[in-house]
Amino acid sequence: MVEKPLFNRLALVGIGLIGSSVARIARARGDLAAEIVATARTQQTLDRVVELGIVDRAERDAARAVEGADCVMLCAPVGAFAELAGVIAPHLSPGSILTDVGSTKQSVIRDIGPLLPAGVHFVPAHPLAGTEYSGPDAGFAELFEGRWTLVVPPVGTDEAAVEKVAELWRRCGSMVERMEPGHHDKVLAIVSHLPHLIAFTICGTADDLADESRSEVLRFAATGFRDFTRIAASDPTMWRDVFLNNREALLEMLSRFMEDAQAMARAVRWGDAGYIEDKVQRGRKIRRSLIELKQA
Ligand code: NAP
Repeated sequence: MVEKPLFNRLALVGIGLIGSSVARIARARGDLAAEIVATARTQQTLDRVVELGIVDRAERDAARAVEGADCVMLCAPVGAFAELAGVIAPHLSPGSILTDVGSTKQSVIRDIGPLLPAGVHFVPAHPLAGTEYSGPDAGFAELFEGRWTLVVPPVGTDEAAVEKVAELWRRCGSMVERMEPGHHDKVLAIVSHLPHLIAFTICGTADDLADESRSEVLRFAATGFRDFTRIAASDPTMWRDVFLNNREALLEMLSRFMEDAQAMARAVRWGDAGYIEDKVQRGRKIRRSLIELKQA
């Protein structure tokens, strides 16, 4: 038996990979929201989500899309949040929940918090699930299955609202954990943002090689390089916004990484076999732990 929907009306502001996955789940389960409304930047995306049959209503105007919704979820790139919040804030219903799925959290709280009218509960969240594809056709209902979602409420947020957002993500198949915003940004800098930075950089380095070497990189990419190209295929707007909105934590992790890379370079230069072996062993150990935790 389908449980009573958590929300009467869920408004998705942005409906690409993440937003359309939530919409598909809401459609399939029936217990997330009685009605799903979506808005996006382009009419093309709105036409497509109507065609896919994953929303009840598509609105070009973000203000109209959120009117009367008891849950609004921002699923656009984080760089668009401040402007979007300015547009929708006056139209949010008292007692409603505003949440988001953005990959950075301190910037989201900084950009949105001050714009919200009293009586709107702000519960930022971040599902740690994704692919290198974007847009409404990239979404799928199993995306969050067995993945973590971090719920990152500012101090003093209404507990009942936090629990409702946590329950929404549990119904999406996620495991949920609460985290403090600054800590979230540091953790994500190392597990996600830095690996993307390295992937974009290494692909750039390969692309800068002389023509003949570059074509060999592509021909023989079956080795480690191929894994980097998958990560590097991600959406440019999204990643530009993530880097610029988690600047401090990302730069801190990058400088630690560069120190460690220097140490590895030194070990290679001086033939320090023990150091190299130890690093490779530690990498293998991390991979094994991930497999055991079913996060590989
Ligand atoms: P996506 O597939 O590129 O979709 C983005 C959506 O936002 C599109 O519907 C786009 O509309 C809309 N949009 C862009 N700018 C907008 C604006 N100014 N006003 C209204 N809508 C706007 O992106 P995504 O991968 O779903 O990522 C969405 C959010 O989730 C980002 O904040 C990202 O940091 C976060 N996130 C992503 C991943 C991942 O791996 N991809 C994982 C976790 C969290 P149009 O289609 O009309 O342009």
